[in-house]
Amino acid sequence: QNFQSVALIIGVTGIVGNSLAEILPCADTPGGPWKVYGVARRPRPSWNVDHPIEYIQCDISNKEEAQSRLTLLNDVTHVFYVTWANRPTEVENCEINGKMFQNVLDAIIPNCPSLSHICLQTGLKHYHGSFELFGKVAHDTPYHEGLPRLPVTIFYYTQEDILFEEVKKKEGLTWSIHRPGLIFGFSPYSIMNIIRTLCIYATICKHEGLPLRFPGTKSAWDGYSICSDADLIAEQHIWASVDPNAKNEAFNVSNGDVFKWKHLWEGLAEEFEVEIEEFDENKRWTLEEMMKDKGQIWDGIVKENGLVESKLEEIGGWWFVDLVLNEECPLDTMNKSKEHGFLGFRNSKNAFISWIYKIKACKIVP
Ligand code: NDP
Repeated sequence: QNFQSVALIIGVTGIVGNSLAEILPCADTPGGPWKVYGVARRPRPSWNVDHPIEYIQCDISNKEEAQSRLTLLNDVTHVFYVTWANRPTEVENCEINGKMFQNVLDAIIPNCPSLSHICLQTGLKHYHGSFELFGKVAHDTPYHEGLPRLPVTIFYYTQEDILFEEVKKKEGLTWSIHRPGLIFGFSPYSIMNIIRTLCIYATICKHEGLPLRFPGTKSAWDGYSICSDADLIAEQHIWASVDPNAKNEAFNVSNGDVFKWKHLWEGLAEEFEVEIEEFDENKRWTLEEMMKDKGQIWDGIVKENGLVESKLEEIGGWWFVDLVLNEECPLDTMNKSKEHGFLGFRNSKNAFISWIYKIKACKIVP
């Protein structure tokens, strides 16, 4: 087959990587037909095998490995960088995430004469700082792309600076930066996947006959929140990689509506057939604490229901949900993205339910 474009997805089993792997090969995807390479460290999982892509196992934090595996590719036209590593401090995050990104670009830019565009995914931490700084240095909301950088260390700034330097090395090479908020998506391998974590929590509640409790604050329960659908983010990446209006720009990417967690909670309870415990702001608790001894119970649930093998400590991701639901959700604006021609949107409540269906259909939860 003659391909018009060749994608390299770095982080192909991640929350957005998996959506890109599903959407890029479709016949009607803009810029196509696309040939697609996808990179991750672990062997290819069962839930990714249906995507018609070439799967490459490679640890991009290892310079030699990145050189030996990725310099074999010389036809890449577009890079979709949708991965990261999480370290205890932001200084370490800058170091590791800068290195990973640099290793990929060092292997690809000199070896791919037709390379034309690099999409880098970062996020709203660009506007509010790292997790430790939550609520301390943030810009006023709604966040927009014209805001200056914060005077703090964030690995996103390190990645951006690498990107700006690297594109200078090749005439005509363009870039785009994509800044989602909380992502709603599928991946069992994602470091941060709130819907997967909530599905596992609800499954354990059902198994133990416990009601579903909300592990957050009143402002998260009752206030407006926003999120970014993984397929929508993938669509924005693809739009930016082919539309001349989107070149060399950063874009927020969120669904374009608002929701309240108390409403999504009803959907979660319904899908897993559990009761909701009335929200009480004064009863504070964390999923991390509640789930710390549930590993064996989860092993039993996996076995009984013939689920895809997983370990609770790997798939849980409790810390992330405890963090997100204990903060007021910052709002962004999609004006710039729309003004440049990307009009995509999602209904967050419907998206929440359809990702639950997918997580169930792929046998990650019963
Ligand atoms: P995920 O954690 O969902 O996916 C990471 C992917 O990269 C996986 O496929 C993983 O597979 C792979 N990977 C990890 N390390 C390596 C490595 N060393 N070499 C090769 N592959 C690797 O990523 P996200 O989409 O969540 O994150 C991308 C960006 O989006 C980050 O900057 C993040 O901060 C941002 N973001 C994420 C949000 C969310 O809710 N998830 C919200 C807002 C922003 P394997 O482990 O097998 O290697």
